[in-house]
Amino acid sequence: MAWDRSQRDVVFAAVWASGDAICPSDLSALRVRWGPAMGGSYSIAIHCPTCGADVRMGRADDPLGGSLRRWTDAERKRLVEGARADVPVTCPVDGAAIGPQVLAAGGGAGGGRGAWGPR
Ligand SMILES: [Zn+2]
Repeated sequence: MAWDRSQRDVVFAAVWASGDAICPSDLSALRVRWGPAMGGSYSIAIHCPTCGADVRMGRADDPLGGSLRRWTDAERKRLVEGARADVPVTCPVDGAAIGPQVLAAGGGAGGGRGAWGPR
């Protein structure tokens, strides 16, 4: 079963916020696959094992795509300090959860959505 636009938006918002989501049609846990994210682009493939919904999203489909930006130096510093203190940190641009490994890898090449997934 395909999701309508508002269902897709809910699913992707949940994925960005927490890294996973449930199917709006049947409440199954969805499989989320992060594609390669380079040069400010990204791709996400989401599949529901129960109803077979299969949705992909890239930056071109992202409702926030036009408002994304790089982290400022001050934001990056705050994120690194938070990660060192073992405090959960979120992207200052879109609110996506960020793991310390992202920061260690020099993350923020385009904000949370720009180059990295939540996990
Ligand atoms: Zn489903």
